[in-house]
Amino acid sequence: MTQVRTRFAPSPTGYLHLGGLRTALYTYLFARKMGGRFILRIEDTDQEREVPGAVELIYQSMHEAGLIYDEGPDVGGDFGPYIQTQRRELYLPYAMQLIDTGAAYPCFCTKEALQTRRDAATARGEQFKYDKHCLHIDKAEAKRRMQSGEPYVIRQNVPLTGTASFEDALFGHVEVPCDTLDDNVLIKADGLPTYNFANVVDDHLMAITHVMRGTEYLSSTPKYNLLYQAFGWEAPTYVHLPVVMKDATRKLSKRYGDPSFEDLLAQGYVKEAIINFIALLGWCPKDAEREFFTLPELVEAFELEGLSKSPAIFNMDKLVWFNSEYIKRMDFEAYLKAATPWFDKALGGLGMDYRRLAELMHSRTEVFDRIPVMVAFLAVLPEYDIDIYTHKKMKTDAAISLQALMLARPALAGLSDFAEETVKDCLMALAQAQEMKTGQMMWPVRVAISGLASTPGGATELAYLLGQAETLRRIDIGIQKLQG
Ligand code: GLU
Repeated sequence: MTQVRTRFAPSPTGYLHLGGLRTALYTYLFARKMGGRFILRIEDTDQEREVPGAVELIYQSMHEAGLIYDEGPDVGGDFGPYIQTQRRELYLPYAMQLIDTGAAYPCFCTKEALQTRRDAATARGEQFKYDKHCLHIDKAEAKRRMQSGEPYVIRQNVPLTGTASFEDALFGHVEVPCDTLDDNVLIKADGLPTYNFANVVDDHLMAITHVMRGTEYLSSTPKYNLLYQAFGWEAPTYVHLPVVMKDATRKLSKRYGDPSFEDLLAQGYVKEAIINFIALLGWCPKDAEREFFTLPELVEAFELEGLSKSPAIFNMDKLVWFNSEYIKRMDFEAYLKAATPWFDKALGGLGMDYRRLAELMHSRTEVFDRIPVMVAFLAVLPEYDIDIYTHKKMKTDAAISLQALMLARPALAGLSDFAEETVKDCLMALAQAQEMKTGQMMWPVRVAISGLASTPGGATELAYLLGQAETLRRIDIGIQKLQG
């Protein structure tokens, strides 16, 4: 049996967007599942669209995502080079071979001439298709003009009649009438191949057995299949993956500010959570109830049969949920390490006990970048309304709260040690002595020192984190507010 070989073939036009990451992931999973090889190929023949640094970013994102490729530009392999511009010499002879058999022809039409004909077609209300003008040039004459240095492109000679088709593993038989197809450029005037040609030649030369890519290529693949036939090559198995949608109306797109993989990592999403979430965008495991998968578990479970034909919707809330679940499952030391830079953003320089804070925050963290806002009250007491002292369940109101704070203030000031237990014992003893309910003491203190109705941790934890001086200062502010 031939070894399965799959490839991820991004164009270096910017960050790895999430649709691209999903294609890469499925391509990787399938290769691993089949015990095959996973290849990274950089498709940079459209030099105008290339963004400097994008190639390095692709390597980086692939590594961060754990999608380790067996062959690729930065790791080598037997089928290199793996960057198309480094293969530039290799395509022309193949195009020449097609010219010889009549499956392609050189075209000398200038940009201006083409534009004039395009405008005329538009004026007639027709869609412009190349009119095979140069197909009719005598072969010897064409050869002479090519050798004379006259600029030319090479076009695919699509038959005028009949159909072109291919079999897709997901979409089945896909067929288009040839008269709807254009004679696309295969080799541009600068000698570089277009995507239309390079993808065919490279997939063949790199012995790719399965091509997985977005459905945007579904309609042009019949035309690529004509090229395979013209060469007498066996076409790979095609798996076109449905688009990832932001919502019912539009595709996920960087242009609309949708995040890239790198953006999500920078915002403090856990990469394993992103991968898990992305895997389920358009693929469903056999055990349809199961939601949590590590990368090796995905390899184990992945099957082409689970792929969906309908567009997948990128549900951000679901990603946040996955992320919070992954954070909860993180071991505490890893959480503390990951959370520390985010604590620093709000609390840097205050010398706060991050370990204790992390214990309080671990189960409440959905995304790391939400931490600074959540803990900012520890650095600066927020403005708050005294209404929050009134709490039905705690049986508190403004008068009881004032009483509690007036009692707590001197008692806490008198403590020589401000450990959590000491603070707790002190407040509990006060409440008991005054025949107050615990909540009637704890709630007012919590509100006074946090300015919030909802906090990570209660009065004693927060008092410990803030320290004695700051706790007392905040209680004084509370007393003043309540005295109105
Ligand atoms: N370079 C193409 C892209 O980035 C890849 C298409 C393919 O995988 O054949 O969309």
